[in-house]
Amino acid sequence: MSKTMLITGASRGIGAACARLAAARGWDVAVNYAGNAEAADAVCAEVRACGRHAAAIQADVAEEAQVMALYDAVDRKFGRLDAVINNAGIVALQSRLEDMSGERIQRVLAVNVFGAFMVAREAVRRMSTERGGAGGAIVNMSSAASRIGSPNEYIDYAATKGAMDSMTIGLAREVAGVGVRVNAVRPGIIETEIHALGGEPGRCARMGPGLPIGRSGTAEEVAAVALWLVSDEASYVTGALVDVTGGR
Ligand code: NAP
Repeated sequence: MSKTMLITGASRGIGAACARLAAARGWDVAVNYAGNAEAADAVCAEVRACGRHAAAIQADVAEEAQVMALYDAVDRKFGRLDAVINNAGIVALQSRLEDMSGERIQRVLAVNVFGAFMVAREAVRRMSTERGGAGGAIVNMSSAASRIGSPNEYIDYAATKGAMDSMTIGLAREVAGVGVRVNAVRPGIIETEIHALGGEPGRCARMGPGLPIGRSGTAEEVAAVALWLVSDEASYVTGALVDVTGGR
């Protein structure tokens, strides 16, 4: 039986790239998405084209009940869970803190922090050898924003990734003895649609040339690191925060 990976926010961008690479490496993939069913179905079709099992499962990770239902669906459809890429995340319009509404800050924290915690909790409940699981690996999709702070753009978002880094370090130590490895990837400026959500679709073109490596990165370059972290090649890696930033 092949191994199963759940990827949250896998209908587009980095999550979709992880799903494609996972399938190419022999994983069955549960493709979570928020609203874009068509895009999620297209990713599932690509996974199946690699001869692997795929299922698109809608859930807003900011809602505990929906995360529980997401995992129930994974249990039902796949019958096992070996890795989770905790990837779903949002930014809001670029803004200074003094101009941010409370509602906006609450939503960014709800998806990026509360959601990430719920997704990680349910993963550990299934993977922990103490709870009858077979062990596994979690990769949290953090951001270089956690150490840069994203001034004048979205410090709320940056702070959610700081929380994710702390969660990665603490959870990794908590579950290292029960067969679960937990690591984070911290991408820099990566070509996806998230920048349009922040109000600047051309952000990669603006910032890429000024980066130490001279360009923005691709979702595939991030996926390669995430897939390495869940692989057996990374069997002694846990609690690591891996920058994928072209030197930023
Ligand atoms: P993206 O292209 O905007 O894709 C976001 C994905 O997350 C979509 O699949 C979306 O689903 C899903 N999603 C959004 N809100 C959700 C929710 N509440 N519940 C479940 N799924 C939800 O973003 P991306 O650039 O690939 O980013 C992926 C992750 O990498 C995020 O955590 C982001 O913070 C992180 N990251 C990105 C960059 C970058 O430069 N791109 C840099 C550093 C870190 P729908 O399609 O259904 O909307």
